[in-house]
Amino acid sequence: MLASKSFIPILKNNPTEAKIKSHKLMLRVGMIKQSSAGIYSWLPLGFKIMKKIEKIVREEQNNVGAQEMLMPTIQAADIWKESGRYEDYGEEMLRISDRQKREMLYGPTNEEQITEIFRSSVKSYKVLPQIFYHIQWKFRDELRPRFGVMRCREFFMKDAYSFDISEKDAELSYNKMFFAYLKTFDRLGLKSIPMKADTGPIGGDLSHEFIILAETGESKIYADKRIFEIPVDKYKNTQDSLNKMRSDFSNFYAVTDDQFKSDEFNKKVSTENQIQTKGIEVGHIFYFGDKYSKPMKCSVDSKEGKKIFVKMGSYGIGVSRLVGALIEAKYVKDKMKWPKSVSPFDVVIIPSINKNDTSNLDKAIKVYEKLKTSGIDVLLDDVDENLSTKFKKHDLLGIPFQIIIGNKTNENQLEFKEIDKDAEMLDLNKIIKILSN
Ligand code: ATP
Ligand code: MG
Repeated sequence: MLASKSFIPILKNNPTEAKIKSHKLMLRVGMIKQSSAGIYSWLPLGFKIMKKIEKIVREEQNNVGAQEMLMPTIQAADIWKESGRYEDYGEEMLRISDRQKREMLYGPTNEEQITEIFRSSVKSYKVLPQIFYHIQWKFRDELRPRFGVMRCREFFMKDAYSFDISEKDAELSYNKMFFAYLKTFDRLGLKSIPMKADTGPIGGDLSHEFIILAETGESKIYADKRIFEIPVDKYKNTQDSLNKMRSDFSNFYAVTDDQFKSDEFNKKVSTENQIQTKGIEVGHIFYFGDKYSKPMKCSVDSKEGKKIFVKMGSYGIGVSRLVGALIEAKYVKDKMKWPKSVSPFDVVIIPSINKNDTSNLDKAIKVYEKLKTSGIDVLLDDVDENLSTKFKKHDLLGIPFQIIIGNKTNENQLEFKEIDKDAEMLDLNKIIKILSN
């Protein structure tokens, strides 16, 4: 892609309406554009990054056997009346009526919809367990939409739903999601910590919020710092390994403030291991048994011919929130560096352009063509600006690798730089190797 032909409307200065760095940066480099409070258009650059995050989320859901589907954004109020949540959900729900005056709503979540689908087609324990997911827009009329994509009214979420015959089986589905979440965030270059969360009247310990540390996070957290050292890649998707993973994480204290008790914290965690800080909730997994299946009469026949209300769990990831969360985590000292896995481009070529001498640009175009034929997604910054302006711009754009074409470049050696590291002179084949990794 040529920078001169692409739509990346960078602002000269930080937008004044934004309070946190992710919101500032997303507006400044033209990733999003507000349409009304808490509702955004995703411009090409921001959309490309979000799609890459979505792909990783999808792959890790598929890896644990969850099946993708797509439910509508607009739902009928009737099913929400059956579960009792039509009233309970309150003003966060956007209620609509159609031309026949039928009550509809823009889905804030999908427990009712999936339960309705499941009960109309599944009658026997034999097809259990099942896990479904979709990645779809949600609407919640948040009281205080703020911080850009972190707390919006319209946002993009992956939500999965599990169906099992017993609580014991449901725990295995839960553990699969626990595993998929840690893998997903790991691939995104984020250290996420599963924190015990409130289970409400259901009780038990099957609810975790996945939190990444960030000063601007809205969740207060208290943890034993050794939980950060557990290596995620040692676990596998087998029943024993999944159980082990859950119990290893449970060994260390990690809670958000609604679960926090200072006596317990001081008793369980020695002072030198205590962390109290803030974080961003990027995912939430929750087992809720027959909370929806019972009022909605979603049952299956057991082996013994008894009607059993299916045991369900739901599992959300804030896909659009993750774009902001990644910036909060990776934007340091006015320099952004996207993890390779989600960067909008693999590399940017930055030629020093001189009006009277096109030789650098000519060289850059040759390198650009060669990289493209090697399957590398490359941005060529062919805009007529001086080098220091370009460098400032690329500090904001955060493409992790740069090829700088100026007076240091010769036929065989190119100046190659990974953000945060020193530049080195390398030949193009070596560069292609590094970028293809
Ligand atoms: P929060 O505690 O942040 O309000 P929640 O508990 O209401 O979130 P869930 O219903 O568990 O959220 O939704 C799953 C995920 O969707 C959350 O972990 C979060 O990443 C994301 N999410 C929830 N609400 C919003 C929002 N208003 N804007 C952007 N992302 C959101
Ligand atoms: Mg939550």
